[in-house]
Amino acid sequence: MLTPYIDKGDSGQDLRRCFCNRCGSPLYSEADAMLDLAIIKAVTLDDTRSFKPAINIFFDLKWHG
Ligand SMILES: [Zn+2]
Repeated sequence: MLTPYIDKGDSGQDLRRCFCNRCGSPLYSEADAMLDLAIIKAVTLDDTRSFKPAINIFFDLKWHG
C-alpha cells in the first residue's frame, strides 16, 4: 500500500502523488478535479507501445528556452 503525498492541484482540490516505497520514484497521481483519470508516469511502464497519448495537459506551460 502506497501512502500518497497530498498536494493541491491548480483547481485547489487535492492531488495525491504516489511514490515507490523502496526508491521514491514517482509512480502515479490522482486528482479530485479529474476523478476518471489516473496520471501514470510513463517511465513506470515496461512497454509503452500499446499506449497512445490521448490528451496533453499543461502543454502550454512547456518551457520554451
Ligand atoms: Zn522503486
